[in-house]
Amino acid sequence: MPKMKRRSFLKASAVTAAAASVPLKMSFADYKEAAEEEEGYKIPTTCNGCSSMCGVYVHVKNDRVWRVEGHPVHLKSRGRICARGHGMAADMYNKGRVQGPMKRNANDEFEPISWEQAYKEIGEKLTETIDEHGGNSFLWLEHGVRGQRYANPLLDKIGSSNYVTHYSTCFSSKTNAWAEMVGTTLNGDHENAKYMIFEGRNFAGAIIPHGMNQITKAKENGAKIVVIDPKHSEIAKIADDWIPIKPGTDLAFRLALAHVLITEEKYDKDFVNGYVENFAEFWRENKDKSPEWAEEITGIPAEKIREVAHDLAANAPEAFIEPGWHGLHCHYVNSTQTAQMGIVVNALLGNFYKRGGLMPSADPEFGTFEHDGWSEEEKGPRADGAGVAGEHYTVEASRGIAQTVPDMIEKGRIKAAFIYHFNPLRTAPDPEYQKKIKNADLVVSINIDWNETSVYTADYILPESYYLERTEVPQAVSGHISHDYPQISLRQQVTEPLHDTKPLREIMQGITTEMGMGELYDYSLDDEIEAMLEPTGVSAEELKEKGTVELQTNKVEASFPLCPAGSPNLATSTGKIEFSADKFRADGKAGIPTWIEPKVMPDPSADDEFRLIHGKQPYHSHHVTSNNPDLIKLTKKYNGTAMWMNTKKAQKLGINDGDIVTVSSDMTEKEIDVKVTELIHPDCVWISSAYGGFSDRLETAYNLGVNYNDFIPVMVEPYSGTTMSQEVIVKVAKGGVS
Ligand code: SF4
Repeated sequence: MPKMKRRSFLKASAVTAAAASVPLKMSFADYKEAAEEEEGYKIPTTCNGCSSMCGVYVHVKNDRVWRVEGHPVHLKSRGRICARGHGMAADMYNKGRVQGPMKRNANDEFEPISWEQAYKEIGEKLTETIDEHGGNSFLWLEHGVRGQRYANPLLDKIGSSNYVTHYSTCFSSKTNAWAEMVGTTLNGDHENAKYMIFEGRNFAGAIIPHGMNQITKAKENGAKIVVIDPKHSEIAKIADDWIPIKPGTDLAFRLALAHVLITEEKYDKDFVNGYVENFAEFWRENKDKSPEWAEEITGIPAEKIREVAHDLAANAPEAFIEPGWHGLHCHYVNSTQTAQMGIVVNALLGNFYKRGGLMPSADPEFGTFEHDGWSEEEKGPRADGAGVAGEHYTVEASRGIAQTVPDMIEKGRIKAAFIYHFNPLRTAPDPEYQKKIKNADLVVSINIDWNETSVYTADYILPESYYLERTEVPQAVSGHISHDYPQISLRQQVTEPLHDTKPLREIMQGITTEMGMGELYDYSLDDEIEAMLEPTGVSAEELKEKGTVELQTNKVEASFPLCPAGSPNLATSTGKIEFSADKFRADGKAGIPTWIEPKVMPDPSADDEFRLIHGKQPYHSHHVTSNNPDLIKLTKKYNGTAMWMNTKKAQKLGINDGDIVTVSSDMTEKEIDVKVTELIHPDCVWISSAYGGFSDRLETAYNLGVNYNDFIPVMVEPYSGTTMSQEVIVKVAKGGVS
């Protein structure tokens, strides 16, 4: 076997390209034995298992990934990674990867083509589409983290405003509320907190390794952890108190907390007087939202609500309701108001910009890369109506409404779509409806594997190189957990690409060159890296060597942002935290959060009716990791595909643990096995968001478990455009589908 020194493969690509195929043809036992002898090398990069993008070191032997470990400096990992991080590295060798450019032929089958042919045909078709229908008929649809910098040059050049992310299927209700009321988002300072509420927030399920370290450290130091969730989630395992709330009623719980804090004068009056706008208006609107009122709605005893409010106040400002993420923030018709009330309760505790309360992210100051070849044409209104008066005016236009793409196509607003690093057929409700994305004149899927969106909708699949096979621009290490100093990290190539794949910038350059727009991407990645790093004082060489660097500038301070004259200086119209959102009022909606009933509720007299809720498991990143054979071993071990049902409700229906049941909504009916447990509220049943794959090219994920999105119609939450993915009632009957 060839001996490879660290990085030597990058200098000898011809040799390594040949060597790369050798280990794949060996048995694993032979490979392992041979590799034990190898010296190998390790390269720092970042994980791609979830949006935390933890820093990792990847050890390579014989040009094959040997093992992965957490980067000791990186804020999210601090030397540790989760199971998904290991699984994602192994997925480089997954048979489900697309191994070269593909074209759908007249028989509705995919055939391999060259990159040159793909660029030429796609370039010609896109040019034709733009000539005929205008640039605004083009849509870029992506997960939302990495592609925008390469989407923008094309969108700007052709005059398209249609950049859409997956966020409406995930957390837009939160970001919309925070943008309108605070002008930024803050993170819980878990490590220094004395009292933390995780409401619909499973920090140990959507795991951030070092975030969990901080939480457990706080607990060891005496902090109290309270989990409000219909399901006893993984974070509940370390909680002092689990309060199983009736799903869909968190808004009422938060309104009642505010009621206690205000009526008992336990709120921080100095903070409210100095930094809050519209307090009196809020109180006028919500004077009647007492704990007794909330008990009727939430099922939580009024005394328990009072106890939580008192504990929050007693520990403030080192106490908070965790700002949260996916859970609660795309689930209900009242998700935006629930997020608003999280802000209100935290503001009443006076915990903004306080240690142990809510703190800002420490963000690096990157330089801006500018390119002479870029230009911007006038753009039309967004096809999804986000931010458009008379349509979805209050939805953040920067994020869009991902679940309505088939509608945009049906209305003739979108004719061509590039779908990058995103699988809407698994992420958005009603997969059968999402399949209509295929009706666009041109659909190009730029994804790693044979995911459902590629298989069912794409005219062309252009496989991007795997995250361990490519280098990207520097990233800010930011969000969700508190830290004092900014960090920057770099995802960099660890091995040669296994297959005929390319990085995104190169793909875009190939297509646009055929469109006569070759100037758009006529620059190098090194140009971008250099420009971005310029103000940080970190050289590209240092970042490549270290992988993650902590800066000693821009230290986060525990002080409310003030302008030089001393008045509050948040990015809101008054500079203060605004309890009433201007944008919502401007659209004729309520600016002040108050009670809104969930859209649907199970009939209390019908024992077989439940709200269907879903969530993450610590060993999966929703569906993204569900084709990984190693992680699926964990699924099997923990019976992860089973649906959770409350014991008493199961008894009434004659259902026992392990039984097969039929679950049906207005959309579909499916068979699933049941886990009967006390650890879930009787009004709901729960399934994991990982399963129910229907691409037969992804062998491990195919037909494993049930997809929660099958049960949900496409809906648009009126304030933030989210999917309202838990506004669905299902019936459960013992036995399989008849
Ligand atoms: S939390 Fe796990 S999956 Fe996510 S980036 Fe970190 S190691 Fe990877």
